Amino acid sequence: MTLAILGYDLINLLYLLAAVLFIFGLKMLGRVETAAKGNAVSAVGMLLATVVTFFFIVDGTWWSILWIVPALALGGVAGTVMAKRVEMTQMPQMVALLNGFGGIASLLVAAADYFNLYGVSGETVRAISLAGPTYSLTIGLAVAIGAITFTGSIMAFGKLQGVKWAPDQPIQLPGQKWIVFGGLGLLALMITFLMIWPGGWPWVLLMTLVALGLGVLLVIGIGGADMPVVVALLNSYSGVAAAMAGFVLNNYALIITGSLVGSSGLILTNIMCKAMNRSLMNVLFGGMGAAPSGAANASATDGSTPQGTATESSAEDAAIVLEAASSVVVVPGYGMAVAQAQHAVKEFAAELENKGIEVTYAVHPVAGRMPGHMNVLLAEAGVEYDVLLDLEPANARLETADVALVIGANDVTNPAARHDTSSPLYGMPILNVDHARTVFVIKRSLNPGFAGIQNPLYFQDNTRMVFGDAKKVVTDLVNELEQI
Ligand code: NDP
Repeated sequence: MTLAILGYDLINLLYLLAAVLFIFGLKMLGRVETAAKGNAVSAVGMLLATVVTFFFIVDGTWWSILWIVPALALGGVAGTVMAKRVEMTQMPQMVALLNGFGGIASLLVAAADYFNLYGVSGETVRAISLAGPTYSLTIGLAVAIGAITFTGSIMAFGKLQGVKWAPDQPIQLPGQKWIVFGGLGLLALMITFLMIWPGGWPWVLLMTLVALGLGVLLVIGIGGADMPVVVALLNSYSGVAAAMAGFVLNNYALIITGSLVGSSGLILTNIMCKAMNRSLMNVLFGGMGAAPSGAANASATDGSTPQGTATESSAEDAAIVLEAASSVVVVPGYGMAVAQAQHAVKEFAAELENKGIEVTYAVHPVAGRMPGHMNVLLAEAGVEYDVLLDLEPANARLETADVALVIGANDVTNPAARHDTSSPLYGMPILNVDHARTVFVIKRSLNPGFAGIQNPLYFQDNTRMVFGDAKKVVTDLVNELEQI
């Protein structure tokens, strides 16, 4: 079986087309309105790249079809089952796993090519024009970054999944930062050796082991709360590792795709750090979360201690105030995702709109547990894009809103971020829900959110707490509004 009709130039042209589709897909993913189409465009690009690569490999060694096809089928089935089963709230774990797979794939591809070239004895068994310091450099980087990505992502997965072997709390060794920097220096040294004295598997093996250990060390010192940022960073690493593997194989599609993943992952990391007002160094080595964090850890001795008396309201009373409003801003947060309340929220908004009340949604960039979390959920429920307001327009709207209805959001509404210099959230841009005339907060208790600190919003004069599961309370509100 030969498919030489594909020729090298045509293959590269098709790879270029796939890359163009990726770039357009990414661009479209940047806007809520075009995100679904962007995903489809990128998927077509990936299909094209996969088919071309398949024919390219089969053209060289036709018998490879015997293992490529079963591998494609196995991977395809596993991916489909995982994607279908995963809950929206488990998406960060899923992305972490996929990053890890990307990392190990780049590591294996680079190591296989290296052994194919030099064999285990260190003797060159295959002459290729690429061999030389540049080749060794790309091998070293693909192996090292791929290994760090693999173990780092597995640790991130474990922390997000809440498994025993990956504790949520950061484990900080004495001089952790310097051990990590030392490990990175050692890797750089080994890659340099590889460039000067190429050949032989011990270097590659040793480098792999050091990098695998470094991946664990890098993530183990970071609290579960910061894992989504780490996952975005590891996503970037997996892209760089893939780009390096692309240089090893001289595969343009892999180089371009890897670079796109590398840069977009880094941009996303930066956006998340900015939205939390944290530096990347602080996320990586700050050990935030070493103090008790999260609702489950709330105790009288940490920042979760209530700072006053909160005023409680029933769904019935809240419905009366809502019905009298002319403008309502809904502020969704992680609790809405946990309760899967998005469809009830859409129904609630429709009820208000039927009564001539204007409803908009204030979406904070880090509300929930992954970037775009709230947008995805609200889009799933059929909420129109034009009523989703980003931070700035949302804050402008809140200044004149009659009611801000906070549904399972906490940290992103904490006014202490504006003025309390001792607050861990100080400086983080927040949604100024406290500026609305009346604030209703739906949550189950006064427990803190992800940052593990109390929210003074709950004790303000214009705030009413409606305690309960978000889906149940919002459904109660719909029933009450129907009766008014
Ligand atoms: P928070 O984690 O601050 O608060 C969520 C609140 O939801 C909790 O206080 C909880 O209170 C409530 N809740 C939980 N389950 C339910 C339920 N079933 N019904 C009603 N309420 C519920 O969420 P935010 O969205 O406000 O903030 C996100 C946090 O995550 C920020 O600190 C952000 O920095 C962090 N983060 C976000 C990332 C992202 O990309 N989105 C990335 C990294 C970190 P109670 O237990 O009383 O019900």
